[in-house]
Amino acid sequence: MSPALDLSNGVSASLSNGHSLPHTNGLHTNGGSHPLKSKPTPPPHTDGFSTLAIHTGSHPDPSTGAVIPPISLSTTFAQSSPGVHLGFEYSRSDNPNRRALEELLASIEVGGKEGLGFASGSAATGVVVQALGGARVVEKEGRDGERVRDVEVPHVLSVNDVYGGTYRYLKRVASEGQGLDVTLLDIENATEEDIRAAIRRNTKLIWLESPTNPTLKTLPIPLIARIAREPLPGSSSVPILLGADLVLHSLTKYVNGHSDVVMGGVIVPDPSSHPAPQSLVGRNPEARQEQAKKFYEKLRFLQNATGAIPSPYDCWLAQRGAKTLGLRMKAHGVNGLKVAKVLEAHPLVQKVIYPGLPSNPGYKQAWANLSSHARRWIEEEVVPLSSKSTTSSAASSYAPTPLSPPSPLSSTDSLPPSPLDPSSSSPADHATPPRDGFPFSGMVSFSLSSYDAAVAFLQKSRLFTLAESLGGVESLAEHPASMTHGGIPRAERIAIGIDDGLVRLSVGIEEAEDLVEDVVQALDYVAGLGL
Ligand code: PLP
Repeated sequence: MSPALDLSNGVSASLSNGHSLPHTNGLHTNGGSHPLKSKPTPPPHTDGFSTLAIHTGSHPDPSTGAVIPPISLSTTFAQSSPGVHLGFEYSRSDNPNRRALEELLASIEVGGKEGLGFASGSAATGVVVQALGGARVVEKEGRDGERVRDVEVPHVLSVNDVYGGTYRYLKRVASEGQGLDVTLLDIENATEEDIRAAIRRNTKLIWLESPTNPTLKTLPIPLIARIAREPLPGSSSVPILLGADLVLHSLTKYVNGHSDVVMGGVIVPDPSSHPAPQSLVGRNPEARQEQAKKFYEKLRFLQNATGAIPSPYDCWLAQRGAKTLGLRMKAHGVNGLKVAKVLEAHPLVQKVIYPGLPSNPGYKQAWANLSSHARRWIEEEVVPLSSKSTTSSAASSYAPTPLSPPSPLSSTDSLPPSPLDPSSSSPADHATPPRDGFPFSGMVSFSLSSYDAAVAFLQKSRLFTLAESLGGVESLAEHPASMTHGGIPRAERIAIGIDDGLVRLSVGIEEAEDLVEDVVQALDYVAGLGL
């Protein structure tokens, strides 16, 4: 996010940053006025998510007509004279498949202008942090008002519940290795004042993961973006973070979606059309735009200089995967909600974490973070169906009807419209979440009483393979305390909610009733062991 960073588990473009801007890349638009009619000009048509995902960067090959672009494995490209070529020189700097994927990323991340592909989500993280620079000499005011020289290092403010590998990078590489200043803050429970107090004059980046992993906390992204854009007291210059607006994905997860590619992506918006209210941009929007452009160029430079690039084959696979991202996310969400509801109704389960459940403290925030397009889909297609839904026989003994407890939200409870979502036509649009829950990706975490109970569940499950990672078509399950988050000291882990009985599910797109049956039989097995 701008200038905070939104790292979203690849939950989908519309979920990841709360923006919902018309696409400005000019692709597949057919707007314009009719010369013979004097009716008011309708707004230009803009294609939706799946249309862009299928067509952007994927044109028939001009030399053969092949509908699917070929994989271009060549590392080097012929030049007719030095520096004169067809757009590519050397594959680390750029190649046809990476360029196609980068165009695609920029188009499906709503509001995106430029996309950059990396060898992994972690490589993308590394490059973003490197782009903040290192120690530099600054002039400050001394105690008696005199000018003194001092050394300043970039400060990163991060949500405390980050992916284990990102925690490791921030602590061991950025902080211990590069000497950067890193603060981890419980942003979910922090007040606006706490967040302001944690921002310093040398803060260059605010790092958010929303929802967090694995405790699925949803964060107030617009609030953080607003705070971060305000000129800092005591600072005469506009800090780099005022323009450092970006979204980072581990494409390994939902975007590729088939558990066969490790890759990362960064998307930066067009600073001139970024939806930040001008009053919050500071006194000098041109300077901010210039900084954003320089930051993007630095990322591009580091992508080539560090060589942290994905292979053409992986880019081709990720592009293929992204074409079904829209469809898959709907299926993951519908299945995720069903599994979450059955878990919540089972007596053995102590706590279920799913932002789309009415019992979740982040329920309203999660709804607000959805794009208006996603909210419309839920209200028009999911809610009417779920009121008719039946459950499988295995699940029915635990499932209340309807499948969730009544919503704690009253019908007058409404959400503020997202300031970053100009596509919602009126402030009241989709303002209130549905009473009985809504799909919010396939990530579901839940707690059993102990480590032994969690392990017994993981070993007994038939369809949830015990493995790290998430976001593939197949269901996976893992034990964060000993697997993905094993590197975080126990006390810190417990403090952010990763207890020994916590299990994280990545609910796939198999038949929902099979997944529900599997979860129930594994829980019943654990109950039978007396755990
Ligand atoms: N961020 C989050 C939230 C993740 O879950 C992961 C991987 O699990 C990463 C970053 C790292 O991505 P990659 O595995 O592609 O390096």
